[in-house]
Amino acid sequence: MAPSSSSTSRLPVVNALTSSYNEQIRPLLDAVDRLRQLRVMQEGIQLPTIVVVGDQSSGKSSVLESLAGISLPRGQGICTRVPLIMRLQDDPSRSTPLLHLEYHERVIKTTEEDITLAIEIATSEIAGSGKGISDTPLTLVVRKKGVPDLTMVDLPGITRVPVHGQPENIYEQISGIIMRYIQPAESIILNVLSASVDFPTCESIRMSQQVDRTGERTLAVVTKADKWPEGLLEKVTADDVNIGLGYVCVRNRIGAESYEEARASEADLFNSHHLLSRIDKSIVGIPVLAQRLMHIQAQSIARSFPNIVKKVNEKLTASISELDGMPQNLVSVADAMRAFMQIISKAKDRLKKLLIIGEYEDYSDDNQMHGTARLAEMLNEYAKDLPADIPSKGGFLMEEIGILEEARGIGLPNFLPRTAFLTLLQLKVKEVSSLPQDFVSKVWCYLEDVVLRVLDQAAENYPPLQACTRRAAQNLVEKMRRKSRQVVKEFIEMEMITDYTCNPDYMKIWVDLMDSQEGFMEVIHNHSKPAKMTIQIVGEVNVSHLRGMHDGLIEQAFDIRMRLISYWKCVVLRLVDILALHVRYAVKNLVDNELETEIVNEVMGRARNDIEKMLEESPSTAGKRERLRKSIEMLKESKEVVGKIVDRINAMPLME
Ligand code: GDP
Ligand code: MG
Repeated sequence: MAPSSSSTSRLPVVNALTSSYNEQIRPLLDAVDRLRQLRVMQEGIQLPTIVVVGDQSSGKSSVLESLAGISLPRGQGICTRVPLIMRLQDDPSRSTPLLHLEYHERVIKTTEEDITLAIEIATSEIAGSGKGISDTPLTLVVRKKGVPDLTMVDLPGITRVPVHGQPENIYEQISGIIMRYIQPAESIILNVLSASVDFPTCESIRMSQQVDRTGERTLAVVTKADKWPEGLLEKVTADDVNIGLGYVCVRNRIGAESYEEARASEADLFNSHHLLSRIDKSIVGIPVLAQRLMHIQAQSIARSFPNIVKKVNEKLTASISELDGMPQNLVSVADAMRAFMQIISKAKDRLKKLLIIGEYEDYSDDNQMHGTARLAEMLNEYAKDLPADIPSKGGFLMEEIGILEEARGIGLPNFLPRTAFLTLLQLKVKEVSSLPQDFVSKVWCYLEDVVLRVLDQAAENYPPLQACTRRAAQNLVEKMRRKSRQVVKEFIEMEMITDYTCNPDYMKIWVDLMDSQEGFMEVIHNHSKPAKMTIQIVGEVNVSHLRGMHDGLIEQAFDIRMRLISYWKCVVLRLVDILALHVRYAVKNLVDNELETEIVNEVMGRARNDIEKMLEESPSTAGKRERLRKSIEMLKESKEVVGKIVDRINAMPLME
């Protein structure tokens, strides 16, 4: 589109625009600007944004100045130290321009004369008075007759070498800020290039190519056409650097020129310069640039608006449900008590599922918490560890013979001394007595772990309460562990003082075993036969050491041994069964009664006056709640903003 007569007394840009275009785009742009002001970007919602990038002194600020018709800090060194969001709004009713700055939640009115100073002051307030930079943006609103409706962000220029007073990592800082702004697909990159440089060597080109390889959202502005006209036509026609949205060559204000003078000189330059006049008029001059930018902006907004609406709604729903999912904020003692009882009942409920019922849905991924399965596993291991056959020491029957000799008194020889049997039984039970104790220790260790984890989670939002429930649970487990050890000790003592079972297997196995006795004695007597034989259950035995011993003694020893073998099986079964019942009983008692009593006692007893304090939220929870509240407030407002014009969009034809 050819620029309209460019020597009019004010910026000619708007003349070229139809008023309907303005009517359609302006509300959209206002809505996007409002969303920007509300900082929806912080919620990860990207807004269509024209981002001005360029190497230092390439003329970024000058281009913005030309578009806005106001003076911006320009010139040597690093002038733009914070992102400057520039909102230009055409206001035909204004004879004098209205300018204000927005930053740190403040609005500061200013004038054309003072704008440079005001920006410098604001920049110092944001980024310090030195040469440092910051990514907190400063917004400049310019309402003026004849300016294009555009919102652009001017970023600090890229510099490789820090100048005096700049931080060492200035390059990383600046490129970090630039990348953050140009990365989103919604950003339009306005790459400002000085006509004096070789475009492919530009740092800003290198960066924009990283995020926009094909250049589909990159527009190049070539400044200083007046100073370096040679080869400019060739440079912009060759397009060595993938600029998808094309080039616009401009000449900015020089020195103390007025804007009108600057535009007139620019038009003159491109009309009459022997080299520059050969460049197509559709790609030269600030008015063309303004036009192109408004077009691109309109398209970009129209394209991304539906998605923004969707995102706002999604984020709002997500934030609301996250806030709803948070624990209640407690304000009164009654509240605190209620929450406390809820925590206990939640913990009880979970423990019941994990340790008694065997439902693991709360911890489906965490096998360690699958209580009933882990307890059964421990019991199986313990049962396996208990020797299935009675352990024996020395040669076959030698232990029995030794004990029988010691038990001998004055009396008839053919009575089996019961004390000998009991002594042996006691010895054998003692040998394995550490196994049941180890088993209950292991069980309590495990239970403590599960109970503490469940409690910690139930009370996770109330750290002081966590400490208190933890203490109560640890005390309780310790108490119950001691009790268990006592119970197990009693079981073992019972096994040692009485030999009794009503299990019919005992007699059956003993009778079967005794069948071998006759054959066994024969092997002992018959010295010509090998001194080995196999007895069922017992296996192969060597009897050479028994040859020559008194028959009555061997027979008694054999009998005692067979009773022990048969009885041992009953002892082992009992040691497993009784501990299984004991553990189940203790767990049920713990979950159903003891835990609640202990915690309530602890909290009501020791910390009665502190119950309110104990239920204070952790700072992180309180912070999160506050963040969510703010975000919901902001998103609700955003939703209203977009809601008002969403119908307009639907009615609008997509612009070319
Ligand atoms: P920035 O660092 O990219 O913001 O660059 P500035 O806008 O501050 O410009 C750097 C210098 O180049 C300033 O002295 C400007 O006056 C000068 N300058 C910018 N554009 C032009 C132009 O089109 N022609 C001439 N002759 N000088 C320009
Ligand atoms: Mg600048």
